[in-house]
Amino acid sequence: MSIEVKNISKSYGAQKALDNISFAVKKGEIVGFLGPNGAGKSTLMKILTTYISADEGEAIVNGNDVITNPKAVQKSVGYLPEHNPLYLDLYVREYLAFNADVYKVAKSRIDEVIILTGLTPESHKKIGQLSKGYRQRVGLATALLHNPDVLILDEPTTGLDPNQLVEIRDLIKNIGKDKTVFLSTHIMQEVEAICDRVIIINQGKIVADKKLDVLISVNDEQIIEVEFDYKIEEEAVAKIPHLKSYKNTHDFVWELTFVSDKDMRPAVFDFAHDNGLKTLQLNQKNKNLESIFREMTKN
Ligand code: ADP
Ligand code: MG
Repeated sequence: MSIEVKNISKSYGAQKALDNISFAVKKGEIVGFLGPNGAGKSTLMKILTTYISADEGEAIVNGNDVITNPKAVQKSVGYLPEHNPLYLDLYVREYLAFNADVYKVAKSRIDEVIILTGLTPESHKKIGQLSKGYRQRVGLATALLHNPDVLILDEPTTGLDPNQLVEIRDLIKNIGKDKTVFLSTHIMQEVEAICDRVIIINQGKIVADKKLDVLISVNDEQIIEVEFDYKIEEEAVAKIPHLKSYKNTHDFVWELTFVSDKDMRPAVFDFAHDNGLKTLQLNQKNKNLESIFREMTKN
């Protein structure tokens, strides 16, 4: 296991930020830690990276206990904090060299992380001159300097514009090919884009811990968009088995919502055929993970 969290609780005064949290992350997994603001994501990440300690429970990273062996934990973990603190007056290389000294990393590694994070075209600039996307790359490069096995990234794409967002997601996916990645986000699409698995936290408690495909399939609702070649009466459509609801979105296009654990596309195709219609398009739409997330985190 790369990360083991056992019965962790943490309060700030009367505020319970984490309430008996347990989970484990296997080596090589990319896990999304998803929850609304204030759910406790950053608190857990600070515990895993030895910045703060839990009130109760145990956290083990790469086989090392965060309390009894913090140095070993720091060696095997790369951390991108939520508000990626950078020295804006330093040049990219200067900043990385400063951190390489702190981590006692060979200077040759600086060029490696610059290439790895796509910083090359901006590497001669001051950090203050960089866009938010490139600043995040500097943060990632810093986290990668000592070539850690585990990456802990706290909301790595928050505040990025859509292009930067896609670039940073791709970069994380790429880095994640040979590392364990534990990243927090409050955006469901982020998890869909990057992760194999999602752990959902709400008000300090874990409310779901599932592989992405399993999470999708527990919700046995299925939306099929179909386009026929001609008009069909609503009464006829309503008779398709397992149908929960239907909507004629435009022209001869219908959105059909089924509750079934089997693929309903063949049934829709047969229905068209039985009614003398041709099927021009038939798409099974992605189940709406955003709505699953909202269900699980509503207070
Ligand atoms: P998230 O990262 O999911 O937004 P946090 O872990 O930052 O959540 O915060 C969890 C809860 O703990 C929130 O209610 C937050 O206000 C509170 N909290 C976090 N840090 C502190 C702190 N240093 N002092 C007091 N309360 C805090
Ligand atoms: Mg946070």
